[in-house]
Formats: sequence, structure tokens, C-alpha cells
Amino acid sequence: MPEKKARNIGAILCPNCGKLINANSKYCIHCGLKYPGKQNVFIKLMTMFNKRLSYTKMIIYFCSGLYILSIIIDPSALSGSGSIFNLLSPSIYALDRLGMTGQYALLQGRFWTLVTAIYLHGGLLHILFNMLWIRQLGPMVEELFGLSRLILIFTISGVLGFLISGTLNEAYTIGASGSIFGLMGALIFYGRDRGGFFGQAIFKQLIGYAILLFAFGFLFSGINNWAHAGGFIGGYLTAKLLGYSERRPETLIHKNVASISLIITVLCFILAIWNGFF
Ligand SMILES: [Zn+2]
Repeated sequence: MPEKKARNIGAILCPNCGKLINANSKYCIHCGLKYPGKQNVFIKLMTMFNKRLSYTKMIIYFCSGLYILSIIIDPSALSGSGSIFNLLSPSIYALDRLGMTGQYALLQGRFWTLVTAIYLHGGLLHILFNMLWIRQLGPMVEELFGLSRLILIFTISGVLGFLISGTLNEAYTIGASGSIFGLMGALIFYGRDRGGFFGQAIFKQLIGYAILLFAFGFLFSGINNWAHAGGFIGGYLTAKLLGYSERRPETLIHKNVASISLIITVLCFILAIWNGFF
């Protein structure tokens, strides 16, 4: 057998439709994707996330790291006073430098804060509470929608929540709550659309969570209820637009757009740090 042909024998999963194909084929016999054996950098990124990293864990580590950084930047947070809700609260000064959002930032044209603020938190209870919700809901959405759509639902709903609250006069705002409401919105869409015993169970459980959390937002001052509502709508609509794994398997488009959204997130942080420190 000529050496050339022996190089790349075997079957792979098509990066678009996920079906088994020959690694050397010029196009996928199932979905028609050209050169399915040649994987672009975006697909490699998604595969790395799938195999070696958990996106949910990465969000939790990233938020925790930024929280610690926001205290280091202005250690006056350590001598904080008053109620338990202000325990270890980073200063407005520190949060602003790392990419806090709100009407003031948007009016200055700092649109990258719509992304960066998702990962910033204003106190120990704030971050603890949000990370517990992400740990609970992230793997559920990943299981039912796949990794790429989890990334898109989380990011788009967070941005939409801040865009709506920033337009409707919220001065300063930060936190992953909009994205958390987005994850709930996506799961509620799933439950409604899928139906059946499992769909109904998901729907009932998530409606319960959403009502509880939304009501909780009105019990305390300083909670950005517009970001919660906007995030919920964003998550619901993104889920509706992109579909879920059972009905519509993850495609190459999902993977590419999710990778672009990760790259945009990194770029937003570079802009925020550049703007805040230089
Ligand atoms: Zn295919």
C-alpha cells in the first residue's frame, strides 16, 4: 500500500453533524460538510473545552479570581462595615477599573462592560450565591443544549440583561445574575417545548426557581431586577432560536459562533483592563 494512503486511516465524528465518517472523505456523506477531517481552530477550542475543561467550572474560577483581584486593587474592602450583605464588598473604584457596567459606562461608549460586568461581583454573599446557581444550572443546560449553546445562552442573556437595565437607568451594575436568569429561561423554554413527563418536570422545577429568585430580588435593595428580567428573556429567546440537542444536534455554526463569543469576551476584558489601568 502506498505510504500516502496509510497516513490517516480511520473513522472520525463529523464536526458538524456528529455522525461517524471516514477521516479522509472530501465531504460528510450525512450533512455535506466539506473536508470534515480538517478541523478549524474553533472546533479544536470547543473539543478542548469538552474534554479537558468544564465551562461551568471555568466561569466559577474566573469570577472568583476577578473577585479576589477586585479586593486586592482596593483593600479598603477588607475593612468593610455594616450588614452581612456588604461583607467583603469591593469598592466602586476597583470594580469600575475591571469593567463594571451601567448607564454611566454605556454613555461613555464603554460597550465592552456589557460583557465584563457579568463576571464581576459586589460582595461575598453576592458571588457565593451566584456561583451556587451557576454550579446547579450550568451542567443542566450543557446536558440538554450542548457546550456551544450553553456558552451562547450564558453570554447573550447576561449582555441583554445589562443592556436593558443600562437603558432603563441603573447607575452601577455587575454580576452573573442576568446570565443565571438566562439559564433558567433556556431551561423553561426546553421544558415547555419538549413537553412529556421529563419536559414538564423541568418546567415545573425551573418556574419555581425563577419565581423564587425574581421575588427575592424585590426583597432587597440594590438588586438589578431589570437585568434579571432581561436575562430571562435573553435566555428564553436564545434557546428558542438555537434549539436543543434532542431536536437539533449541535452544528458547526453553533461551535463557530460560541468560539467567537469566547474570543469577544477575552477582547472585552483586554479593553476593560486597558481602559481602567492605562
Ligand atoms: Zn456531517
